[in-house]
Parts: sequence; structure tokens; C-alpha cells
Amino acid sequence: MPVPLLDVNAQNHPLEAEFTAAFQRVFRSGIFIGGPEITALEDEIARLVGAKHAIGVSSGTDAILIALMALDIGPGDQVLCPAFTFFATAGCVSRLGATPVFVDVCPICFNIDLNDAAAKITSRTKAIIPVHLFGQSAEMDRVMQLASQHGLNVIEDAAQAIGATYRERACGTIGDFGTYSFFPSKNLGGLGDSGLVVTNNDTLAAKSRALRNHGMEPKYYHSTIGGNFRIDALQAALLRVKLPHYARYTAARRANADFYTRSLGALPGAVQANAKDCVCRGAAGGGAQSASLVLPVELPDNGHIWNQYTLRVIGEGRRDALRDHLTTRKIGCDIYYPLTLDRQKCFAYLPASSRSGCDIAHQLASEVLSIPIYAELSESQRDEVVAALADFLR
Ligand SMILES: *Cc1c(COP(=O)(O)O)cnc(C)c1O
Repeated sequence: MPVPLLDVNAQNHPLEAEFTAAFQRVFRSGIFIGGPEITALEDEIARLVGAKHAIGVSSGTDAILIALMALDIGPGDQVLCPAFTFFATAGCVSRLGATPVFVDVCPICFNIDLNDAAAKITSRTKAIIPVHLFGQSAEMDRVMQLASQHGLNVIEDAAQAIGATYRERACGTIGDFGTYSFFPSKNLGGLGDSGLVVTNNDTLAAKSRALRNHGMEPKYYHSTIGGNFRIDALQAALLRVKLPHYARYTAARRANADFYTRSLGALPGAVQANAKDCVCRGAAGGGAQSASLVLPVELPDNGHIWNQYTLRVIGEGRRDALRDHLTTRKIGCDIYYPLTLDRQKCFAYLPASSRSGCDIAHQLASEVLSIPIYAELSESQRDEVVAALADFLR
């Protein structure tokens, strides 16, 4: 039986009747832009994560863009971003004329290395964007400490981490802004593109609301330049169908991760990353690695939502060999991310100081491989993934 990396139909098709009802509700109302579905979704998400304000927008990318715009980030400003993340994190910084400064990451939790971040702060540094990569929180106490010491704004890129927690607080609600994505492959996946911004700051919330609609407040009066960053009423209504099931999806992903960690951990040459080696939590480095396969770990105090279950495959060429092995056996897998941002062609224009010292990120880009973790994965599918990995390590 083939095992896809993700099967959106397995999650969405059982809800077809509810999606149809939601579509009809909006269709019959004739309200497609703004309106009660959007405010209802915003209220529901604000309650889910414990944020004061939630603002639905067109995508997770636009959520980051709006947050940066609301903070007046622009030419001359530097923004610290991890080198190992999806492009949008840094793309938004560049689009506003500001300068992304790439920061190395931790080999244990894959998140921004705060020692390296501290070393790269200058008088021009205005903000830091910790990304809660693969569904696990960055080390937010240290992020906030660094931010308050140096007067930085904090935008949490929580595109992969809606509902994840750090010391009991929801990812996205700790910094000045949190940004979420409802891209279909995210944990709360919509039926198209959309995203959301959260903040606890009244002024920033009002600014963000105006920015999402051309900076218009009141109608046809523009004191700032915004854009069309609105979420569709239809998309909001469809997302609301999935929201009541979200806790169950997360529980299933967590159970899959536990299963992998137990089953794969028993294979020869496989070890779980040691939380004590996490550089974000003060360890010196990743520790000597004699294993051939390193399993991901949920750090203490974190509630991981497992957007990805990402292996490190140690040894020259071994990751690509495993990818080919799984592909031959019709098991879905992918590399998030094969090329770090500091090495992207589009960022070659940046000064060398923006692109220095990202060695761990480079190493990870050559070692990582994500395997199926989606909520609807069946027991026999999980077994197949483990059997294929056992075969590879034999
Ligand atoms: C998906 C993602 C985004 C962008 O979200 P879109 O909704 O696709 O625009 C931004 N940052 C990270 C880390 C992501 O994974």
C-alpha cells in the first residue's frame, strides 16, 4: 500500500457534508468579503491560542508581511531570521527593503540559535523572527530576553505551529506578533490559501486591520499604505468546519510521533536527539554523532504539534539514499529544506555579514528527511514506514 507524505483528502472528505453546508451558508448570504464568518473565525482562533486580537489574512506570508509593516520595518533595518526555514520568513523582510540577517540553528530542535542571534545584533537590528519549525517552539524565554535587552520587536512565525505551546503558552502569543498559515499542508489546513495574525497589543492590532485593507480607515481615507491582504469569507467558513476537530488532529499526530520514536528508536543505528544537547537551552553543541539516524525530540516545556517528523540521516549521501529507498517503496518523504536561505540566489545581493556562520543549518540541509506524520495515517501505513526504515538500516 502506498503511503503518501500527506493525504488532505483523508482529513477533508469525511467532512464533506459540513463543508457543503458552510459553502451554502456563505453562498446564500452573498457576503464574500468581510462579514460574520471572518469575525467568528478570528474569535475562535483568538480563544484557541489565548490571544487578545486575531486578524484573518490572505496567507501565512502576508501575515508576516503585515506584522513587519505594522512595526514600520523598512530600509536600513536589519531583521534576524533563521537560515533554516521556509523562504517566506526572510522574503517578507527583503520585500520591505529591510535586510534579513541569517542566523544559524540548533541541531537538536532545528530552531534559531540564540547565541548566534546575539552575536549578530547591531545598532540597526530592529526585529527577530523566531520560527517554530516543524511544529515545535523556539526557546522563547531567551528570545524575549534578547529582545528586551536590545529593544527588538519579536514576530513569531508560527505557520507550522498553531496550537503548539511553550511553557503552557501558545506559540504566536508571546512576541509582539504571531503569524499562522492555513496552507493545506499546515496542521490546520484550509481549502486554499489563508493565514492569520495575532497580537495582544491594541495599537498594533488596529494597524494590522487597516493594513490588510489598503491601510484604509475610514473608508477611502488612507493614512498608511497597505494592501489587499484579506481572507475570503468562504475560506473562513470552511476553516471553521475543521476547527472543532483540531485537538483530535493534533493528538493523532502526537501519537504517530510517539509510535515512530518508539519503533524507530529500537532499530540498530538509530538514536533520538538528546534534549540536553539543545544549544537554545544553553548546551555547547550537538554532541558527537555516531548514530546513522537521529530521531527528533520534543523538548521539555514544549507542546510539539508535529507538522513534520524530521529525521537526520548521518553520513555522506545517506539522506539521498534513504529518500530513494522510500520513494521506490512508494513511501512519501521530502526534504524540508534542501537549500538554506543564506545560500539562495535571490539573497546573493545581501552583504556577506548577512550570510555568515550558518554551518549547522548547512549540515541539516544535507541530512534532513521528513516522513509521513499526518493525523489519518493508519497503523498498517505506519508499520510500513518503520519496516522500510528497518530495511534501510539493516
Ligand atoms: C508555510 C509557511 C509560511 C508561509 O505560509 P503561506 O500560507 O504558504 O503563505 C511562512 N513561514 C513558514 C515557516 C511556513 O512553513
